[in-house]
Amino acid sequence: MKADVTIVGGGPAGSALAVALGRRGVRVVLHEKARHPRRKPCGEGLLPYGVNALGGLVGLPPAPRVGGLTFRAGDASVDAEFRRGYGLVVRRDWFDTWLFEAAASSPNVDARPGEPYRGERAPVLVGADGARSMFHRRLPAQVARPLRAGLSAHVSGLEGVGDRVEVFFHDDGELYLAPSDDGEALVAGLFDYRSFRRDGIQHLVSHIPALRDRAVDMTFTTPILAAAPLGTFVPKIVDVPDRLLLVGDAAGAADPITGDGMALALLATQDAADAIVTGDLLGYQRRRLARGRTARRLGRLLLGLSRTERRAAWFLRELSGAVPVLMAHAVGGECAPSWLEGDDGTV
Ligand SMILES: Cc1cc2nc3c(=O)[nH]c(=O)nc-3n(C[C@H](O)[C@H](O)[C@H](O)COP(=O)(O)OP(=O)(O)OC[C@H]3O[C@@H](n4cnc5c(N)ncnc54)[C@H](O)[C@@H]3O)c2cc1C
Repeated sequence: MKADVTIVGGGPAGSALAVALGRRGVRVVLHEKARHPRRKPCGEGLLPYGVNALGGLVGLPPAPRVGGLTFRAGDASVDAEFRRGYGLVVRRDWFDTWLFEAAASSPNVDARPGEPYRGERAPVLVGADGARSMFHRRLPAQVARPLRAGLSAHVSGLEGVGDRVEVFFHDDGELYLAPSDDGEALVAGLFDYRSFRRDGIQHLVSHIPALRDRAVDMTFTTPILAAAPLGTFVPKIVDVPDRLLLVGDAAGAADPITGDGMALALLATQDAADAIVTGDLLGYQRRRLARGRTARRLGRLLLGLSRTERRAAWFLRELSGAVPVLMAHAVGGECAPSWLEGDDGTV
């Protein structure tokens, strides 16, 4: 097939864009260097606005639903519910496979698993190859400060994992727990470089009293995956003369403390597809950068508030009313309501 668009990367951003373009009659070649299922370090929480965007595009996969988050620091804790909709906890090995297969079976899409992109020319080229994109040589990325690293894995035997995401703030890092498939749980840890350790998840579990007793029978069921550094900023995400644009993490990613990497990629999909069809790449760049700015600002704020367990506990105790407001921003409902409401895929 002679392609109109070549997409490099079959993660959530690349696969979703392939579906959206294929449906618009655009001929797409989708390169994915790995063969799905492949593993990806991630907190696996898809925020409600991402669920909304996904539902409008391809429908929803069977996955545990979450109705909100519980934030804990020391003996302080605050529950915050999603105001609209629900989140999903999507196991990245099968979720990315499911979405890639949806792309592969879409009209006009030639999906090529196990085929890395090797510089073939294309009328339009899309970099969807993640946070360490090869296109950052042409459209440079800046790494976010402070330098942070992340770990994630699945466990069984963890007590009391319900239908919400729990976030524990500790001086040595944050720990995220979420329900996963088959009664297992997703466990992810985010760390400053100075406190990073390969056994960071086990370290946090054993040093957070509210968790220690729940984890007596905890066993890892998948390997512990690592990612670093977290968070990039890409000031220019399109090259108009070269007909190149970046999507998903390749277009910049806030620190995962915001939990919105996948949701942002999915939300921006229709806009990127429209921009390719109409040629308005700069319009896409403007809107995507604005969204990224909101996420980065939120990330900086959350990192500042949770720098130490004591500070996070004070915030949760003294300003508990601010938590749902912050979360409303984090889940997107307050950032760009018209754009969100305009999405026809309400779930
Ligand atoms: C520790 C951690 C926790 C996170 N927690 C969350 C969370 O709870 N919720 C959330 O929404 N987000 C979270 N994120 C962010 C989320 O993982 C990303 O935003 C998301 O994966 C971005 O999707 P993507 O498709 O842009 O990139 P990726 O998922 O990275 O996919 C890129 C794909 O490109 C392929 N590729 C690379 N180079 C080539 C090449 N040359 N040719 C062909 N293919 C290539 C790769 O194999 C890969 O499959 C987290 C990230 C980290 C590191």
